[in-house]
Amino acid sequence: MTDFEPSGLLIDYFYICKRKLYLYFYKISFENTNDAIQIGKEIEESFFKDSLKSITVANSKIDFITIEDKVVVHEIKKSKAFESAHIWQVKYYIYQLRQKGIDSEYGIIHYLLLKRKISVNFNEMDQARIQEAIEKIREILSLSQPPQVIKKPFCSKCAYYEYCYI
Ligand code: SF4
Repeated sequence: MTDFEPSGLLIDYFYICKRKLYLYFYKISFENTNDAIQIGKEIEESFFKDSLKSITVANSKIDFITIEDKVVVHEIKKSKAFESAHIWQVKYYIYQLRQKGIDSEYGIIHYLLLKRKISVNFNEMDQARIQEAIEKIREILSLSQPPQVIKKPFCSKCAYYEYCYI
């Protein structure tokens, strides 16, 4: 696990719930039955029919990029409920691009249903925080048991709700 590089989605889950991160990694099939996740995928797919295609960097799938003076990362999301986690997911994509020598320091999150978008900037402190997060993710995934249930209001909408509470 020491060389394991998480995907962008694992970074997103790390900032939402450590248990979700663990369960997703080891029990991926639960996610496919969740309505909210299916809706999110359908939104992305319908957007991509008339737009740019997603690109893959390391084991992360970036929704799409544009080229300005530098590479701009674009991520599509359904709701702003986990905006902070979304921001770190985009920062992580920028981090991965920079690790590959690609000049990027800026991203945009598109909240299509809300018709809103927010900008994400990347700085040197972000680099250190992402490296810390990667280390913590490796530690969590090395545990023999999933982390504890977090008992948050958003748990009722999580794909793992039944697994955690019933
Ligand atoms: S139901 Fe709650 S505790 Fe369980 S994985 Fe989802 S967010 Fe985490």
